[in-house]
Amino acid sequence: MTQAFKFCPQCATPLAFITKAEDGGDKMRLRCPACDYTHWNNPVPVLAAVIEYEGQILLARNAAWPGKMYALITGFMEAGETPQDGIAREIAEETNLTTDALDLIGVYDFQRMNQIIIAYHAVCHGEVRLSPELVDYRLYAPQSVKCWPAGTGYALADWLKSRGHTPTFIEFPKQD
Ligand SMILES: [Zn+2]
Repeated sequence: MTQAFKFCPQCATPLAFITKAEDGGDKMRLRCPACDYTHWNNPVPVLAAVIEYEGQILLARNAAWPGKMYALITGFMEAGETPQDGIAREIAEETNLTTDALDLIGVYDFQRMNQIIIAYHAVCHGEVRLSPELVDYRLYAPQSVKCWPAGTGYALADWLKSRGHTPTFIEFPKQD
């Protein structure tokens, strides 16, 4: 679940769930009882990449994940960058690879994390060196990689379909 703010970022008064009339009708949200601040809690965009490296798909494993989960490279956008610049930067930071080409796979819903996933296919080259956040990576042939039933897994499945492969899914027990 998303971490809710506890205090007003404008005046530090504890926030409360308050119902107010909005354009769409009455709506209860976290609001400040002292000033007019509303915590809108809009979904946050997250960038993700299906990395194609030497003809294979690179999936990486985060140090914080239990078990044997391998997934797409993801990251948040920085202010002042385009999504394309952002995902190329994340790929470089997390794998040391250089992105040669990017194309949008699609935009995916991830309500559990209050996120919207913007997924790209990235053709990359270079020498893989993982950031400390990542403990391992694996390369999979497109015809043998397995997808998982969550936002980024659907992006991988859609990319596989676009290349004429039939995606297969595994259970992916994410801890969040
Ligand atoms: Zn306030």
